[in-house]
Amino acid sequence: MGITRREMLKLTAATAAATALPLSLPRPRTVIAGAESSGSPTATRIAKTACIICGQKCPLEIHVAKVGGKEIVSKVVYSRDPEYDQFFGICGRPQTIPELRFLPERIRKPLLRVGERGEGKFKEISWEEALNILAERIKKYMDEPWRIVAVSHQGFEGGLVRKFFKKVIGTPNTTKHCDTCHTGMDIGHKFIFGSPKGPSAFQPDYANADLVVLMGRNPAGGIVASAWSKIFTEGRANKMKLVVFDVRESRLTELSDKYYIIPPGTDLAIALALLNVILNERLYNVDYLINWTNASMLLYVDTLEPVKLEDNPYMEKKKTYLVYDGYDQRFKLKTEAKKPALEFEGEYNGRSVKTVLLVLKDAVKEYTPEWAERITGIPAGEIRWLAHEMARAAPRAFIDHNYKATRYYNEGMFSRAKMLVNVLLGSVGVKGGLAYPAGKPKLKSPISILGIETTK
Ligand code: SF4
Repeated sequence: MGITRREMLKLTAATAAATALPLSLPRPRTVIAGAESSGSPTATRIAKTACIICGQKCPLEIHVAKVGGKEIVSKVVYSRDPEYDQFFGICGRPQTIPELRFLPERIRKPLLRVGERGEGKFKEISWEEALNILAERIKKYMDEPWRIVAVSHQGFEGGLVRKFFKKVIGTPNTTKHCDTCHTGMDIGHKFIFGSPKGPSAFQPDYANADLVVLMGRNPAGGIVASAWSKIFTEGRANKMKLVVFDVRESRLTELSDKYYIIPPGTDLAIALALLNVILNERLYNVDYLINWTNASMLLYVDTLEPVKLEDNPYMEKKKTYLVYDGYDQRFKLKTEAKKPALEFEGEYNGRSVKTVLLVLKDAVKEYTPEWAERITGIPAGEIRWLAHEMARAAPRAFIDHNYKATRYYNEGMFSRAKMLVNVLLGSVGVKGGLAYPAGKPKLKSPISILGIETTK
C-alpha cells in the first residue's frame, strides 16, 4: 500500500470538519460552499459523478490526490450544479469513502470460518483457495441445489452471481438488493393491501399534512435525503409538526418538534400501542373504514375465515362479503347494507362471527401503552398523547411509511402495524396523508454523467 492510514487522516484533516456535516438538508449555501472550496492540499483533479449508494443518485465531486505516486480519493463532496439544484447536498455515506479504504475492519481477502458457526473465528485465505472450496461445495450439492443459498447485493456483479446460482446451479435461494433493504416492508404491506408495496408506492404529502411521525428511519441522515429535505421544507412552510422516534440524537431529532429515544428494534412496540389506543378509544375514522376497507367484514371466530355465503355469485367474484347492517339489524351483503357495523359480534347460522375490526382489536389487546413503556422506556402517557394528537389531526396525520425495513428481524410486522395506524385514521390515499404516488416529485439525477468527467 502506498500510504498509511495516518497519512490519509492527515491529508483529509483540513476538510474533515466540513465534510462531516450532514449536508443532506437545506442548509445555508455558505456551509456547503465552505466544504467545496476548502480543497485538499494535494488535490490534482476533481471528477464529477453521481452517488449510487442509494436510489437518489446525488451529484458528487470526487477529489483525487497524488500520494506516494498513487492517485487516491482524498475527499468526496456535494457537487453544486444549477442543473441539479433540487439536490440540497449529500448525506454522510459517500463522504466516508476516503476513510473506508483504510479501516482496519475492511475485508481485503476471502475469509474462511475456522470456529463454530456464530463463534466469529475466521482466517484469511487466497482467492484461489476460496474459489476451489466454493467449487467443491457447489459440486457436492448439485443434486439438491436448493440447499445452496447465494447471498449477493446489487450492481452488475451481484446480478451475475444471482443469475449464475439461479439459472446455472438451479437454486431458488438467492438474495438481491431489496432483501437487505425494503422487502420486509413490502411484505408487511402485502397483508394490508393484498400485494407488496415498496417505498415508491406512496408519496407522503408533507406539504398538506399537520402531523408526521417518523419511526425506524432517519431521512436526514441518508437515503434519498434531498428528496426528503424538499418535502420536509414544504411541510414546514405549511406548519407541519414532526414527531420522531430514533435510537440516538441526530440531525433528524434536531429538526423535530418532539422526539423520543428508544432502544433499537422497539418501534414495533410503539406502533402496536398506538393501535391499541386508537381501537380501544374508538379514535378511528368510521366512514373511511366502512367505505375503503373490509373492517366491517364478518369472520368466523374459530377459524378467522370470512363467513361463507354458499352459491353466492358476488362472493365467487370476490366482490362483496357478509356484514351486519346496523340500519335494520340484519345480516346482508356489504354491497346492500346501508350502515355496515364495525363492531359486531354474534351468531350466524349457528357459528360465532365477528367483524375484522374487532378481531384486530383482540389481536392488540395486550399491547397497552404501559406494556410498550416497559419495552421502550417511553412513558405510557406520551404514547396516549401521540395517539390523541394523530387522531385529532387525521387524516392529515400519518406515520411515514419508511424506506429500509430490514435492519431488525421484526420490521415486516413493524411496517404492517405502522400502516394499520394510518389506515385506521383514514390517512392513506388522501390529501395531507400518505398519498398514492400521483404527482410524486422526481429529482433529475446527474446519473447520466456517470462516465466520469474531469474538470480540473
Ligand atoms: S442520499 Fe443516497 S445518493 Fe445521495 S449521497 Fe446519500 S447515499 Fe448517496
